[in-house]
This record gives sequence, C-alpha cells and structure tokens, in this order.
Amino acid sequence: MRHGAPIPAKLDGIVEPHRLNRASLASYIAEELARPSAKVLAVLMVHLIRPKDVEVITRTSVWEQTLSRIDGHVGRFLRERDRYAFLSDEKICLVLPGLANGAQAQLAAVRVLSAVRGGNEAGSHELPTQASLGIALFPEHALSEDELVACADTAARIAADNEDGYRLYRPGDGGESTLQRSDIGSQLVDAIRLNTLPAYYQPQIEIATGRCVGAEALLRWTGGSGVVIPPGTVVGIAERSGLIGPMTFALLNTVLRHLADLTSKDVAISLSVNISSNLLADTEMPEVVQRAIETWQVPANRLTFEITESAMIGNVERSIALLCRLREIGIRLSIDDFGTGYSSLAYLKRLPLNELKIDRSFVKGMFDTENDMRIVQALIDLAHNFGLTTVAEGVETAPAFEQLKTMGCERVQGYLISHALSYVEFLHWHESWPDEAGQRRLIQ
Ligand code: C2E
Ligand code: CA
Ligand code: CA
Repeated sequence: MRHGAPIPAKLDGIVEPHRLNRASLASYIAEELARPSAKVLAVLMVHLIRPKDVEVITRTSVWEQTLSRIDGHVGRFLRERDRYAFLSDEKICLVLPGLANGAQAQLAAVRVLSAVRGGNEAGSHELPTQASLGIALFPEHALSEDELVACADTAARIAADNEDGYRLYRPGDGGESTLQRSDIGSQLVDAIRLNTLPAYYQPQIEIATGRCVGAEALLRWTGGSGVVIPPGTVVGIAERSGLIGPMTFALLNTVLRHLADLTSKDVAISLSVNISSNLLADTEMPEVVQRAIETWQVPANRLTFEITESAMIGNVERSIALLCRLREIGIRLSIDDFGTGYSSLAYLKRLPLNELKIDRSFVKGMFDTENDMRIVQALIDLAHNFGLTTVAEGVETAPAFEQLKTMGCERVQGYLISHALSYVEFLHWHESWPDEAGQRRLIQ
C-alpha cells in the first residue's frame, strides 16, 4: 500500500486495541478474506482534509492534536474484529469484516465521519476536521486486499464532492481489476426471467406446542457453476446491479404460489421473506405486494417480511412510513439480525413490528460466553416489553433449545429442527413432523 506523507510516529505503533500499523493492516485484510464466510467485508478509506494555513496562524501543531483526537474517537465504536490504520497523516483505512450487507458499512461510514469531524474539546486549537470517505465491499467490488483499498480510495476521492461526504464504490469509478461479476449478473437476469431462482424453506417451531408455525424462505442459487453461491453474495450482486427489486419480486411470487398451495392443503403457517435495503426505498413496493397477495388469494398475515435494521438507515422516516403501509396491508414484520451490527433502540420503538429474530451468532455463543447468554435473555425481555414474538435462529442442539425455552423464547429455527428444504422436501418434512407428544420425544 503506498499512500503519501509519513505518519506521526506514535500513530504507527500498536497501542489502541483496534489500531494496526499499515503493514499489519494489509495482512489483516488478507487473513479475513481467506476465512470461509458468506458475510461482507468492508474497507473504508477516510481522506482527511488538512487546513494548510491553520498552523501558520496559530503557531501550534494543531494537526497532530487533531490526529490524536481522531485516533481516540474512531476506536470507540468499533466491533471486536474491526481494525484501522493511519496510512499517512491524511488517510485512515478501516476494515470491517463480518457485515450482513453493504448498508451496515454505510451506517459505520456515517459514524466514522462524525467521529472524525466532530467533538472539539473546549480550549483546543482545533478546527472542525473536513473529511471524505469511500467504501469498498468484498466480494462485490473487489476480491483482493489491494483492489479493495484502491476502490475505497477512489470512492473517497469522489465523495469529496458529495453532500453527505461518503460514497459506496460503484463499478466504473476505477480501481478494480477484471472481475467476472458481469457474467454472474447476466446469469442472474436469466434466472429471474426464467423463474429458476429456487426458494428453500427452513421450518420454525413454536416451543410451547412443538408445532411448525412458519418457515423462512432462503435463496439457493447455483449460477451456471452448479455450486451454491452464498445468498449474501447473490443479494450483494443483485443490489449493486439494480436486480434486487426484480429478484425479490420473483422470489416473493414463488413464495405466494407456495402459500396458496399450503392454504389449499389447510397448512396454516406463515412464510418469511428477507427484504433487502433497496426495496425499502421503493415507495410503490407495498402496492405491488398487495396486488400480488390479491392475485394469489392468500391471507396477508401468512406473509412475514424480515427486515434488518441496517436496511433502514438510508432514510429512517421513509422506511418507517413504508413499514406502516405493509402492516396496514396485514403483512407481519420481523426484525432480523438485531444486535449484531450498529443497532439502536431508538429505531426499535418506532417500528410497527410483530417479531424479533435473535441472531444465530448469539445463540451459538450462549454456552461459550456468559455475555452472549445475557444478550439473548436481554433480547427476549426487550422483545416482550415491546409486545414482540421472539424467534431464535441457528438452534443446533437440544441444550440450546431447552435453554431458550427456559428463557421465555417463543419460536426456534435451526439445524436441530431442519436445514432449509426445497418446497417438495418441505411438504414431506411437514407431513412427517410428529404430533406434540412425538415432538417432545424428538427434542429430548
Ligand atoms: P439470515 O436472514 O440471518 O438467514 C439465516 C441463515 O442462517 C441462513 O443462511 C440459514 O441457512 C442459516 N442457518 C439456519 N439454521 C442454522 C443453524 O442451525 N446453524 C447455522 N450455523 N446456520 C443456520 P443462508 O441461507 O446462507 O443465508 C444467509 C443470509 O443471506 C441470510 O441471513 C439473509 O441475510 C440472506 N438471504 C438469504 N436469502 C435471501 C433472500 O431471498 N433475500 C435477501 N434479501 N436476503 C437473503
Ligand atoms: Ca432472515
Ligand atoms: Ca438473521
């Protein structure tokens, strides 16, 4: 990585737990890229704009003070695996691994910019710091550490002219090498057009009765290669190439067709669909969904939309208005991945929700760390205080099931019950899922 002027020595060492020096940052990104994960990794590049004339006027080394303040503030809200480094005295590079989607990176960008710009203490000589920020995402924008940094750098340069000061890299900005993304993009267009994007269903069980009360529709797409492409990657590509709307509607249509079939078979369960951030910006979406529900003649409350909090950050007011309209139509609303990213209680109380999903990372960690156990209990209590049903995902073992039951969680989803199944497999699974007494035996 080559990035301009030298850095004050004390900012190139390893003192703050999240700060690396520039050489270690490069290897850290490479290490994170090598992990098998369906998650997104974001590289954020901050360009600080140094007010050249200030030091002459004040005769003090204001810039070093400013950098120390920024150093103190940036680390504060980072998560455990997030890291940053000063690449020069005017550039900071952050790495945020394990994100659910690009919207979480944008929320982080807003926070980084306010940490960088804000909070000048009384008595300091500092002026508010101007900065711009670029975001590049793995795997959508680039596949290697060098390219990610180059893409984020390019986006930061363009962001200097943006009103909000940050920019998510776009193909065409420059910085990336030859990717086969367009290939995957055109295969995805075909799959949407030919309606060959299969929805797989993962059952959800009500703990009190053992009944199957719902299932989450999950994408399973193999592209041309025959190997399943992680749904997070497919969603990312679809979002970037403007295909997310058509893709979600194609999937929704399939889910409604299956709901109509289930209704005709007297199987009264709700099917959940993951709604990505871009769709929350589409003001016509509720009407389109309403028409589709009418076409298939299924009760609207059999459809659940799972929305992540980070999907709403682009425009909170608009998202809330849209969610209210979906609720009026009768669609159930569930908040997904709550507590995993940069969540805020302030949103939660304003959202017209029915359900809160407890992320599999907390469920998985319950028996490893006391902290995760406390988080799960806190999330269940929080949900109940807001009148929401709780669904724990990623339930893999009987002890986890029992623990969640004791904690007051209502529903579970996970490999203990079943993996995601094709529709035909799901129907067979549902038929053979035993009655209440049988379910108890199965789970014990
Ligand atoms: P998510 O919404 O949190 O979905 C739950 C994920 O947990 C699924 O991964 C599921 O297979 C996995 N899972 C379920 N039970 C267990 C378990 O017991 N243990 C473990 N370790 N994992 C379990 P999947 O299918 O790979 O989906 C990953 C993410 O991709 C989803 O996370 C969701 O954010 C996104 N996604 C999937 N399908 C769609 C879709 O149709 N539209 C949109 N927008 N996003 C989707
Ligand atoms: Ca989900
Ligand atoms: Ca989730």
